[in-house]
Amino acid sequence: MNTPALIDTALERVVGQGAAKKLASIGLKTVGELLDYYPRRYAHWGKLTPLTSVHEGEDVTLLAQVVSADLIPNRRRGVRLSVELTDGFGTINATFFAQHPGRLSVHQRLLQPGSQHLFAGKISLYRGRHQLTHPEFEGLEDDAQAAERALRPIPIYAASSRCPSWLIAKSSAIVIDLLRATDISDPLTDAIRKRFDLIPLLSALKQIHQPSTDEDVTRAKTTLRWVEALELQTALLARRAQANARTAAAIATEGGTAVAEARSQLPFTLTDGQDQALRQILTDMSRPHPMQRLLQADVGAGKTVVAGLAMTAVVDAGYQAALLAPTEVLAEQHARSLRRMLPVPVELLTGSSATLTRKKVQELASMAQPAIFVGTHALLQSTVDFTGLGLIVIDEQHRFGVAQREKLREGLAVVPHLLTMTATPIPRTIAMTVFGDLDITAIRELPSGRKTVETFVVDAANKRWMERMWQRAAEEIASGGRVFVVVPRIETATSDDSDLANVEDTYRELTALNTLSHLSIGMLHGRMPAEEKARTIDAFNAGNYQLLVTTTVIEVGVDIQAASMMVILDAQQFGLSQLHQLRGRVGRGGQQAVCMAVHRENAAEDSLKRLRVFASTSDGFELAEADLDLRREGDVLGDSQSGRTSSLKALRVVRDARIIERARSVAEEIVAKDPHLEAHPGLKQRVERADSRANWLERT
Ligand code: ADP
Ligand code: MG
Repeated sequence: MNTPALIDTALERVVGQGAAKKLASIGLKTVGELLDYYPRRYAHWGKLTPLTSVHEGEDVTLLAQVVSADLIPNRRRGVRLSVELTDGFGTINATFFAQHPGRLSVHQRLLQPGSQHLFAGKISLYRGRHQLTHPEFEGLEDDAQAAERALRPIPIYAASSRCPSWLIAKSSAIVIDLLRATDISDPLTDAIRKRFDLIPLLSALKQIHQPSTDEDVTRAKTTLRWVEALELQTALLARRAQANARTAAAIATEGGTAVAEARSQLPFTLTDGQDQALRQILTDMSRPHPMQRLLQADVGAGKTVVAGLAMTAVVDAGYQAALLAPTEVLAEQHARSLRRMLPVPVELLTGSSATLTRKKVQELASMAQPAIFVGTHALLQSTVDFTGLGLIVIDEQHRFGVAQREKLREGLAVVPHLLTMTATPIPRTIAMTVFGDLDITAIRELPSGRKTVETFVVDAANKRWMERMWQRAAEEIASGGRVFVVVPRIETATSDDSDLANVEDTYRELTALNTLSHLSIGMLHGRMPAEEKARTIDAFNAGNYQLLVTTTVIEVGVDIQAASMMVILDAQQFGLSQLHQLRGRVGRGGQQAVCMAVHRENAAEDSLKRLRVFASTSDGFELAEADLDLRREGDVLGDSQSGRTSSLKALRVVRDARIIERARSVAEEIVAKDPHLEAHPGLKQRVERADSRANWLERT
């Protein structure tokens, strides 16, 4: 068969060149892509826009009667058909332009005075009146048809002025007419359909684009979500099964003597959670297949020690371990604490390393020298050729996508074990979707004696509280503590009109404050050279600075034991998980710490709600669940930060949690019995197709 499968066929061959060009302008090039472009919503007769309430710029669907239709020559050239419409309450003009009257003869014939039609288009303003220019319209011939129509939802697609909704609808109607069951690989078996009350994929596609009733839409949506969830989970589990089939260095289960030695030298004993996590990791690595594990633990739970001991086991067995940190500051800090903690060599490579050091480290790496290599992921990935890599640890990198994780290990004959660590507690279904290719270990407790950080919400307009707050800061410092003051901006904004607290002004204000003027105050932000950043953090750690005005660069991982108080200015600007990360920077030495979330006067109710939740609990898992309730879906998957929409189509991770969980267990059954999906050709095809779209769940 030389002709491509229908769903891979270029739209041009099915809907014609003109329409295809317009569809291409919104990214739809093949039949399959058009089929997967679901209506964004459905209009209903009962919910049609009344003519009295339309606004300029609004996309509307109107049911209206033609009052008059006049063909008028334009002043220069061409003609226009000017149609007066009414819905019994208001009126509006609809205008169609053409070069030749003949072009409008169909319109003229259909738009007879007295006839009723459904009109869809964007409202514009012309000479002070609302107008529809070239609206799409559909006629209604008789009452019976009207009654049937009354039930039928009208699909409205996300469209553009170049490619309007009606064109998409028309094109998908053409495509759907051609579509046969054999054109679609349906991943659902009869058994699955029966068990979960689903319909064939072909019917679902027909009904999502051309529903007869609302129930059609509901049924179609459920099935499409299921198909997507099953594809996704099968793809993730199949990837995991494939990774499992590859060869990795098997490390002695007990981690050798070095681990025991390192443990005995720690100034503390591991918590039960840490101990179990370490055991699980060592067990994973004792098998000759690569570990793929996510270690999830709240800030301060002590992930670094666990990773450090795992790396020690690997080095002791004669392999290399790489710890990839998101920032240089963190890489340096990790290197420092690992050197202090572990009896194995630790090499550090950062952008500011001297050429000589860098050369040496690169050489050691390429000579298969067993050691721990610490650096930022960008650096270690791009400049170092490891020859004996046994383990990769990714720290604090919940934005590493599935494909990126795989890329790390591409082309290596002996596949390194992989440990991903995140301090952002992730609700189960999200973890399942974003980290579905990983086994998950969670540490839920904090080291004993660790106290929760007392948190208060403060209104910046309350001068007495603010005064008292700075006084408290001075007291903390007087008794040996250190204070972070976190602000959202580095400098006074020049471009926008925001007067959000910034590092420079805050520094000036605090130095001028009577309560604080005797103190040594430092500044930290992401635009400082790495060296200066490191120096500043060291100085703060050593007490040469007692108060540090900083941006969120300290959000991730910075470990200053003496820090006992944090003031967050313009706290309404930050999300819950970010606030939680920030707060995790204080009280790390076991002292009672305090956090003041200062918001501006008249902060939005949403933000205040978030701050109140933040103050009410310090359990990261609880906050993560609360966050889900407060945030929009896109934020959860990180869309808003990346400016990209997630590639999920009908599925929503939060709303469809139940479907995802069920699909996951079905996928588990399938992959366990049939890892290569030989007995599930429909699913196999779709998974491969999805896989080739590759980065569908990237979160960078
Ligand atoms: P995170 O999980 O946030 O990365 P860290 O690994 O940075 O946490 O550990 C936070 C602090 O707690 C560090 O100073 C570390 O030395 C200390 N710590 C880790 N484990 C324990 C423990 N079992 N008992 C006491 N302190 C611990
Ligand atoms: Mg950490």
